[in-house]
Amino acid sequence: MSESKTILVTGGSGLVGKAIEELVTSQKRENEKWIFLNSKDGNLCDIVQTKKLFEKYKPTHVIHLAAKVGGLFDNMSNNLDFLKDNLHINDNVLQTSFESGVKKVVSCLSTCIFPDKTSYPIDESMVHNGPPHTSNYGYSYAKRMVDVMNKAYNQQYGCQFTSVIPCNVFGPNDNFNLKSGHVIPALIRKFFDEIQAGGTSFTVFGSGKPVRQFIYSRDLAKLFLWVLYEYNEIEPIILAVDESDEVTIKEVAEEILKAYNCNSTLLFDTSKADGQYKKTASNSKLRKYLPDFEFTPFSKAVKESVDWYCKNHEIARN
Ligand code: NAP
Ligand code: GDP
Repeated sequence: MSESKTILVTGGSGLVGKAIEELVTSQKRENEKWIFLNSKDGNLCDIVQTKKLFEKYKPTHVIHLAAKVGGLFDNMSNNLDFLKDNLHINDNVLQTSFESGVKKVVSCLSTCIFPDKTSYPIDESMVHNGPPHTSNYGYSYAKRMVDVMNKAYNQQYGCQFTSVIPCNVFGPNDNFNLKSGHVIPALIRKFFDEIQAGGTSFTVFGSGKPVRQFIYSRDLAKLFLWVLYEYNEIEPIILAVDESDEVTIKEVAEEILKAYNCNSTLLFDTSKADGQYKKTASNSKLRKYLPDFEFTPFSKAVKESVDWYCKNHEIARN
């Protein structure tokens, strides 16, 4: 019989947390109790509230997703908030995990924290090699410190605290707010509203030329569980689709229009920022561990996300 686990998921109400909840609900394992937290359960910027949550649930394992998260335009306007909130949340969660004897913590970084001026593809060894892109330095430096803390907790106390580095994520339960959302949920929402209003003007911010790798939240959930159960390094691991699956923002917008069965022409508002041009990341470390992992094809994942939004737009985070 496997040892019993109480797995606490911080940020359990978000895009990634909901995908993990959906997966563990569909494939229950013995001797496991899962707890999915949101910010109403406790503010993780506050050490007292963080400690109360750990005392209440007594986790043996933690998947740490909670973060102040936002798209390019939210980051550009609020670098200080992104820095401070995420520094506090991460310090509180790791310190409390250490003090309460949690056996393993898997925290979540992001490929946007890598140096802006770099060679490609980016790999796990490059996290601290130079300044991040100026648009999101607050979020990036706070996230980079998780890797520093993981190594220090391991070196000084032998803690098994590790991290994953996903590329851009999207899927059901995303943040569809036009101001704070990432590009896929923002365009799904924008185009939905335009179609409902009978309009034909589908505007994409920026030039449409930047390229991104996108991972479907349901695929990321599977990889998170593999990291929790099987991955034993302290060093981070990039969780990204193959480099050949990188797409331009224009292609993303076209794919979303296609999912709405709409063939209108796209407009590009070049007065708006493009952000980082590219951040192509290598998944070769992941491929060494899981050579046969199959990612959901991008068009299928976009279609499922658009269908989810059409069905759930009234309850979605708008
Ligand atoms: P999300 O949908 O915005 O969800 C954020 C979660 O964090 C929510 O559950 C939120 O609770 C919780 N939270 C925020 N501030 C909190 C606080 N002060 N105290 C307690 N809980 C708090 O984010 P996501 O997209 O799922 O991101 C999950 C993780 O993946 C994050 O660490 C993020 O940095 C990383 N990531 C995301 C992407 C992406 O493209 N989305 C890409 C790479 C990495 P409420 O629901 O109550 O607000
Ligand atoms: P990033 O990967 O951290 O830059 O995050 P985003 O998902 O916010 O943005 C990715 C790209 O999409 C950038 O080049 C944006 O200029 C572009 N983009 C186009 N339209 C939108 C939009 O409506 N919202 C957002 N957030 N980005 C958009």
